[in-house]
Amino acid sequence: MESNRDYLVRATTHGGLVRAFAISAQSVVADLHRIHGTEPAVTAAIGRLAAGALLFGAMQKEKRHSVSLRVRGDGPAGTLLATANGNGEVRGLVANPRTGIEQVNAVGKLNVSGVVGTTGQLTVTRDLGLRQPYTGIVRLISGEIGEDIAHYLLSSEQTPAAVGLGVFVDAWGRVEAAGGYIVQLLPGVADRTAADIEATIASLPHPTRMLRDGDGPEDVLVRIFGGGFEVLDRVPVRFHCPCSRERVERALLLLGTREVRDIIEQDRARGFTEVTCEFCTTCYRIPVEEIELLAAG
Ligand code: ZN
Repeated sequence: MESNRDYLVRATTHGGLVRAFAISAQSVVADLHRIHGTEPAVTAAIGRLAAGALLFGAMQKEKRHSVSLRVRGDGPAGTLLATANGNGEVRGLVANPRTGIEQVNAVGKLNVSGVVGTTGQLTVTRDLGLRQPYTGIVRLISGEIGEDIAHYLLSSEQTPAAVGLGVFVDAWGRVEAAGGYIVQLLPGVADRTAADIEATIASLPHPTRMLRDGDGPEDVLVRIFGGGFEVLDRVPVRFHCPCSRERVERALLLLGTREVRDIIEQDRARGFTEVTCEFCTTCYRIPVEEIELLAAG
């Protein structure tokens, strides 16, 4: 599949009282898999989280503002983190990409809650361009990511929401399909409308099934709302890490004078320091003289 098939749709219906977001993100998740060397269940976990982060990014008023979803579960994958913005750019990382545990659960699905864990926290951090970012924390309820995000939206942001996220990995570990949807009910929506939407969503196939059947973002919305929704925005999505040599140098200096002096002493003989970005694994080589100049500032 080509990367130009990856995009998200922002839509509204029922007089603006229902907001809907749908995404296809196959190549984004394929990139995360390639960069981090994830086993299938971890690919699904970080892929669902990254798709969710992109949908949260689409909720932001300012496109440049970023939103981070961090899952700290008691499973062997450890912490998972995905950061996206409203321009459809996302990056992610996972503490342990290969857990070695059973990849498929008892019902034949990828063992996402097995690698994530079922106890822990989901933290959402929205950078709104203010001095302090907005942070909300909820307990994990299943470790399946989608349900945890729905729980977050309801309990932390008081918005009832249905969240469906799926990643399909083939027998060789390749990402064949990824994506999903979030439907939010805003205050004022009629009980009858809410009940109808909930019943329709409950009757949908699993998101992974819809994606495997070739459903794009609009197809998923048609399944939920029929034709009765208005598309507000279509945004291409992609993996993108904003790291740069300059940012890495700045981060080095933040370590403090003593740490920087230690690094200079340790790397003086070979003449450079290597810093690897943990999000995209780009390795930056910074000459020791340059660090000395920066430190002298
Ligand atoms: Zn990077």
